[in-house]
Order: sequence, then structure tokens, then C-alpha cells
Amino acid sequence: MAETTAVLNWAHRAPCSKTIHDPSAKSPTKIKSHTGFALVTGAKMIILAIETSCDETAVAVMRNGREQLSSELFSQADMHAMYGGVVPEIASRNHTAVIGKLSELAVKNAGIELKDIDAVAVTYAPGLIGALLVGVNFAKGLAFSLGVPLIPVHHIRGHIAANYIAYPELEPPFLCTIVSGGNSLIADVRGYTDIRILGRSRDDAAGECFDKSARVLGLGYPGGPALDKLAQSGDDSLFNLPRPVIDGFPYDMSFSGLKTAVVNIVHNAEQKGETLDTASLAASIARAVSDILVPRIMTAAGELGYSKIAIAGGVAANSRIRADFLKAAEEAGHTLFIPPLKLCGDNAAMIGCQGFYEHLAGVSAGMDLNAYATLDADAEYTEK
Ligand code: ADP
Ligand code: MG
Repeated sequence: MAETTAVLNWAHRAPCSKTIHDPSAKSPTKIKSHTGFALVTGAKMIILAIETSCDETAVAVMRNGREQLSSELFSQADMHAMYGGVVPEIASRNHTAVIGKLSELAVKNAGIELKDIDAVAVTYAPGLIGALLVGVNFAKGLAFSLGVPLIPVHHIRGHIAANYIAYPELEPPFLCTIVSGGNSLIADVRGYTDIRILGRSRDDAAGECFDKSARVLGLGYPGGPALDKLAQSGDDSLFNLPRPVIDGFPYDMSFSGLKTAVVNIVHNAEQKGETLDTASLAASIARAVSDILVPRIMTAAGELGYSKIAIAGGVAANSRIRADFLKAAEEAGHTLFIPPLKLCGDNAAMIGCQGFYEHLAGVSAGMDLNAYATLDADAEYTEK
């Protein structure tokens, strides 16, 4: 018992640094930007970042947050496709099998050595618990053996940060719609680590809606990209699909009714032996999702007085959604930030980028860091 207490006490004293160490200059420099957030000058902080929240194993090496030295990704999508969705145990096992080699590759491709790593950042929530735990434990081992800080990163904050990598000039505050396979929300990004959720999906995420729709249309898993492609040749006005509004919560969303409507259309056609215009159904789905997403952030921008808006997450790769956001932003005179396709889906570069800003804000974890299946993006990390 005494031994256990000693171990736990030690865990709380695990490596934790709040300043940036420049190995060459030996003089960490912190300045305040006009937004009130610390920026680093003259320092070269190298973060190795790990992302294993779902079915992508990813490791990246980032310098000073936004500069990507390497970004490696191993997608397990093929291994889950035959089941029509992610199988948690298979995801965890595959993360375990590849994370070591992928980390070696990320270090090699970054042109650095292990001793150059100043901190290790890792996604600790939200996601599949077994999958997250693989990344968290690997990150702990690495941080422990190198004697460097361990930075816990919220996955959704990481998605937002993908925009910082793509747009070096982007700084908070701005509004961001984050749409992925597991989450759909509108966030007021007041600062790098000061996030307020304005609205969210009450049920399914937009990506879940795309994936289930694609599944009933026989487009495989994950079906979002295939549905996007099919929609190109369709008529988006052929099917009238629901765009629910939640009374009193103008920024909240709902996608389950849309998903069910698509399933019913497909099943009815099958039962009646009718041929379905699948391209037009795909186009109508993309239009409906876009019609749910775009007006909400535009209204929020107007009400809160924002002129900078961003989108993030896997669904931000959808061509209809990108085009509609661009059009709406242009009409309103807002500046729109959309990450390139590579940075929309899960990756570790975005985790390393957000990890840098978490570190500047003094966020670090001890060896007791755990993983959480659900956690709001506005929750601060606290040692348990
Ligand atoms: P999560 O973080 O929830 O694991 P990601 O951010 O990796 O999800 O995004 C994956 C989701 O994005 C999937 O639901 C996938 O179908 C969807 N997606 C990817 N590309 C497109 C696209 N072009 N159109 C629509 N959905 C897409
Ligand atoms: Mg994601």
C-alpha cells in the first residue's frame, strides 16, 4: 500500500515543464501576442505527436507548433470495411502493432533523433477507449524514457488546429464548425486553449449520417468520400430530405432524421423493385447536410460579430460543403479557413500543433494520464 502511494505521488511529479526550452539558445523566450497568447521566438520546440482515437494510427513531428517535419499515417479502414464500421478491438490491436514502427518512421522522416524531442503530445479524448489507451500509454513510455513533458490533447481541439498548420496567419478568435465521423459542433475559438461550444448535434454526427447513407447505397466503409464522388453527377433537388431545427437552440443540429429518411427511401425502392437515382440521392444528402451546417455558423458569426470562420474534421473534405461554405463566406464578406484534404481527417500533425499551444498554456500530464471516451472540447485537462 505504501509502495502504491509512493508510485502515485511520483506520478504527480512526473516531467512537467511550462517553459519552452531552446536547446541551442538555452534562453527560452516568451512574448505576448496581440491576442494575449504566448508566442515563442528564437526557440525550436520539437513535439512528437500521437493520434490513435479511432481507426487511424498517426505519428507526427512538429516544430514550434505549425511546422510539420513529418506526418505518418496508417489507416485501418480496409480492415474494418468488411464489418461496415470500426470494430474497437481490431482498432486497438492494430494500433498496438504499428505504433512503434510508425514512430520510428516519423522520427526518421523528420530528420531528427530521439534526443531532439522536447515533448510528447497525445490524443487522450474523445474516442474509442481501447484505441486511445494504446496511444496514451505509448506516449507515456516515450515521455518517461526521454524525460520530457507529456501533453494531453483533446481530439476536437486538434481538428481545429489543423487550420493553424494550413494558415500560418490564423490566430484566435474565430468561429469553427467541426464535423467528423463522431462529432459535429460549432465552437467559439476565443483562444488557442479557450474553446466555447455554441452548438452540437443532438444525435448522430454528420460523418455518421454520410457513412450510414453510403452503406445503404452499397458504397462501402467509410462511405463519405464515395458518396461525395457519386453526388457529382446527381440532381440535388430530386429528394426532399429533412433539415431539422431545434426550438430555442439555434446552433444545435440533428442528423438522425436525415439518416433515417435516406434508409427509408432506399428500402422502399428495394421493396417496390424500383430503380433509384442514387447519384441524385447522394447529391440531395450532401445538400441537406450542408444546409444544416452552413447557415448556423453564418448566423453565429453575425450574432457574435466574427468575420473569421473555419471548418475542420473529416467531413470538411466534402466538396459540396466546402463550396457552400466558401460561397456563404464570400457573400457575407467573411474570411474562410478550410484545411487541405490531408489535414481534414484524423492525423497527428494537428495534435502536435494543438499540443504546442496547450504546452504554452501550461498544460501537462503526469504518468497517471488516462483516456476518456467522451469529453467536451471546452473541458480543461486536470490531473485526476
Ligand atoms: P473521427 O475524428 O470522428 O474519427 P475524421 O475526422 O477522421 O473522423 O473523419 C472521418 C469522417 O469523415 C467519416 O465519417 C468519413 O466518411 C467522412 N468523410 C471523409 N471525406 C468525406 C467527404 N468527401 N464527404 C463526406 N464525408 C467525408
Ligand atoms: Mg477526427
